[in-house]
Amino acid sequence: MIQVFIGLGSNLAKPLQQLKVAVDALGSLPDSRLLKVSSFYSSQPMGPQDQPDYVNSVALIETQLLPDVLLDHTQAIENEQGRQRKGERWGPRTLDLDILLYGSQTINTERLIVPHYGMQQREFVLYPMFEIAPNLILPNDKTLDDLISITPKNGLHKIQLSTDL
Ligand code: ATP
Ligand code: MG
Ligand code: MG
Repeated sequence: MIQVFIGLGSNLAKPLQQLKVAVDALGSLPDSRLLKVSSFYSSQPMGPQDQPDYVNSVALIETQLLPDVLLDHTQAIENEQGRQRKGERWGPRTLDLDILLYGSQTINTERLIVPHYGMQQREFVLYPMFEIAPNLILPNDKTLDDLISITPKNGLHKIQLSTDL
């Protein structure tokens, strides 16, 4: 079993509900088990500012699925929850599931870059991740603690406890 962190985000069509449904879907992945889910956080949009605030969370699963098979599943979940891919980068979406870490592996394929290229700079990834894995060390030997200490919250705040799920 490999431990995998997955970042969840939504800012359309009842984002809280979208994340709850997505967490359930992650809990139903084959050959996998959901270990932890962070609180849900409200965050400012990245990129285009003329879109609603986001709801974000980070989940930890353990899985026997290979990285590209896991990506097939997370993309299928995005699609089932109405994700539409339009031209605009970082535009509004019903659900985004990003594979943040896959064990301590580094992956560089056409479809998959792991660790996720943006995770070290994004407050809406680092703070929820720290909540569920405070002692985590990234494959590049940086600690979450160090990254968080140089990453402003940019308005990020908890909106709901994971125990309410
Ligand atoms: P960002 O990646 O900056 O957070 P985004 O999540 O909106 O932006 P998507 O449209 O969800 O981007 O994904 C674009 C492509 O990124 C996908 O087709 C997928 O193949 C690729 N990708 C590369 N690495 C990853 C990863 N670690 N997790 C999920 N998708 C990835
Ligand atoms: Mg993303
Ligand atoms: Mg994505």
